[in-house]
Amino acid sequence: MLRILLIIIGLSAFCLGGCSQGNKDVKQQSKGKMEFKKLTPEEENVIVNKGTERPYTGKYETFWEKGTYVCKRCGAPLYRSEDKFDAGCGWPSFDDEIPGAVKKQTDSDGMRTEILCARCGAHLGHVFKGEGLTAKNTRHCVNSISMDFIPAKSLAKTDTAIFAGGCFWGVEYFMKKAKGVTSTSVGYTGGHTDNPTYQQVCAGNTGHYEAIEVVFDPSKTTYEEVAKLFFEIHDPTEWNHQGPDWGEQYRSAVFYRNDEQKKVTEKLISELKARGYKVVTEVKPAKIFWKAEGYHQDYYTHKGSEPYCHGFVNRF
Ligand SMILES: [Zn+2]
Repeated sequence: MLRILLIIIGLSAFCLGGCSQGNKDVKQQSKGKMEFKKLTPEEENVIVNKGTERPYTGKYETFWEKGTYVCKRCGAPLYRSEDKFDAGCGWPSFDDEIPGAVKKQTDSDGMRTEILCARCGAHLGHVFKGEGLTAKNTRHCVNSISMDFIPAKSLAKTDTAIFAGGCFWGVEYFMKKAKGVTSTSVGYTGGHTDNPTYQQVCAGNTGHYEAIEVVFDPSKTTYEEVAKLFFEIHDPTEWNHQGPDWGEQYRSAVFYRNDEQKKVTEKLISELKARGYKVVTEVKPAKIFWKAEGYHQDYYTHKGSEPYCHGFVNRF
């Protein structure tokens, strides 16, 4: 009966229940606008006005260093050098993207598929399929001027994991204490609304999950260790809720950033199932992680209290 009552409350209101009650004493704060780099007129012509740089002129067309290509305007990682190939077309070409980094839409010509930075909407170029140029049969044809390059040797030696396991305050409380974890942020991911606010997510029509981005040092821990902890500090058998918090934003999910993370996650879920747990955790490719408002970050530390919707349970 209590459960039915909770479902009714969960459906009829927004963000009621355990952790969320703490929100009552939180002042509503508006989320700051995304910070964009100031563009030169040439950059603006391509990135904003969807122009095209002349072929064989861009700085990355014949450029093969190891590293990551990021959005010129907002800095979001877009492509890896491992996926770059020589298509001979005059523009940098990639046969794959960083999961969730690139948005596709029908070009204004009605024929081609335009590609844009999923975070800020910067025009990148076009994507073509079925040309048979690589095994992946895909060519992202990208303007050099839409990107910056970060050499692999200058990238910090870190890795990132993204999880959703109910109220993000509680998940962060435990994850940030884990060995090898260098930083954590809470936010929203998996849905379809850009730059969502907490209120929009709570209202239940953004598709987003309350999630955490965990940055860790792979020389001190592993993705498997971090993911194991995730499965032990929330209940992966609870569907659409976590403890007293009901609503689609509290679904349990792992957002993998590469095939290795996907494999490890699926292995851990199999192990749990073999131990009798009816795991409902979803395993999905990572999408853009929208950092939540400042007052949600490190919530329990600032409040000086402890979560009661999450706790450690030894499951492996
Ligand atoms: Zn961008």
